[in-house]
Amino acid sequence: MWYNIFNTIAFRLTLWFTGIFSICSSFAFVLFYFLATQTLQTQIDQELLDNAAKFSAVIRRNGLMGARELAVVEAQAAGEKMIFFRLVYPTGEVFASSHMSYWKHVHVSKHVLQRLISNKDNVFETVRVASTPKKARILYSYVAGNAILQTGIAMDSYIKFLSAFKKVFISAMGFIIIFSAISGWLLVRKALSGVTAITKTAQNITGNNLDARVKGTGNKDELDHLVITFNSMLDRIEELVKSIREMSDNIAHDLKSPITRIRGFAELTLIHEENLEDYRTMAANTIEETDRLLDMINTMLVISKAEAGEEDFEFKKTNLSLMVKEACDLFAPLAEDKHIEFSQIIQDQIFIVADIRMLQRAFSNLLDNAIKYTPEYGKITVITSLTNNEVSIRIEDTGIGIAPEYVEKIFERFYRAESSRTSAGTGLGLSLARTIVRRHKGDIRVESSQGKGAVFEMRLPFNNFKVI
Ligand code: ADP
Repeated sequence: MWYNIFNTIAFRLTLWFTGIFSICSSFAFVLFYFLATQTLQTQIDQELLDNAAKFSAVIRRNGLMGARELAVVEAQAAGEKMIFFRLVYPTGEVFASSHMSYWKHVHVSKHVLQRLISNKDNVFETVRVASTPKKARILYSYVAGNAILQTGIAMDSYIKFLSAFKKVFISAMGFIIIFSAISGWLLVRKALSGVTAITKTAQNITGNNLDARVKGTGNKDELDHLVITFNSMLDRIEELVKSIREMSDNIAHDLKSPITRIRGFAELTLIHEENLEDYRTMAANTIEETDRLLDMINTMLVISKAEAGEEDFEFKKTNLSLMVKEACDLFAPLAEDKHIEFSQIIQDQIFIVADIRMLQRAFSNLLDNAIKYTPEYGKITVITSLTNNEVSIRIEDTGIGIAPEYVEKIFERFYRAESSRTSAGTGLGLSLARTIVRRHKGDIRVESSQGKGAVFEMRLPFNNFKVI
């Protein structure tokens, strides 16, 4: 794997998952431990209190002598290592006890006696039994007016529980950590499998393999959305790459023809006898072809600059009606040459804010096309109309028309429909026209069907003094 596993999201999430799981489990264990020890201690304390009550009752019935016997008998019955009884005067002097050899290191605490005397309330304490690992719970309690019972119980069950709990805790935590790490890893891997698929697809995609797509989960979750977005991004890139390829093919093609022609002229002139007239013709042809090339290159530059917002447009309040009329007058002789009926319905005095030089270029391209693609004896009509916020300039022709599949493509740079390849042109005119009109916040639309003529409509914002 080319990346470090410790840097992966899967690893970090697993770590988090394991950590949180372990902390929660530890918390549950601590809570359980606390409750269990509390319960055990309460049980022991209750037992001690019961014993004290027993001593009080015996003393009331049989006096202190009875308590002496009870101490021995009770300790023997329960086990002398389990329980002890000591009867003391408030001064701390012991006057009776059970067999104390095991408990000899547990003394009567003067300090506790003091507390008992001043508070008149039972006092509990937990002590470590010296020289043994055991602990004992001890109760000091008044069992008669001048007799205090000190009784203790070995906390064996308590200690046993504690060590059993430790073992359970360690093994359970081990299991929980391993279980949560494995399950966390599997869960995270499953959740991130979509990301892995996207990464793999992205790695597989090269310039030539743009058609690879990631399969969505269909769950409509975040990953599914990511997959959909990723795939639509690929669609868009594929489209762009395709159009860039087409465009560069077209550029190559369009550059090749004039250059081949220039070369042809030069070759012919060389082959023919040296004649000044031949050289002149060659020079004239070369100039014509290079002019066409330069014009094409300049148009490309204008489109690119205008699209990037770098071309300087000089927006001024101008008479659009006048511009349309002048352009029509300019093209009328061309239409006449082809015996085309050229009519114009142009509304007077339409003023808009525009770069009129550029708009004229756009409109001239549309008009030039209409004449170019309309056969002899056809008809062309230019109509302007006005709404509250839009000016429309329509150019209707009865020419060869455009097949529906090409209607959007003809606006791409260098694109020329199959049917029009025979007539001269670069395929840049419409692209330039649309770029110019869009810089004016307008657009160009086309309605056409093959063989039935075409209608190109330039729409520009009217009252646009503030728009641009
Ligand atoms: P050119 O005219 O130099 O080929 P354009 O960008 O002006 O380039 O036009 C692109 C293509 O759109 C043309 O090649 C032609 O196929 C189609 N076209 C444009 N105007 C018309 C029209 N009025 N009638 C039919 N086809 C048209």
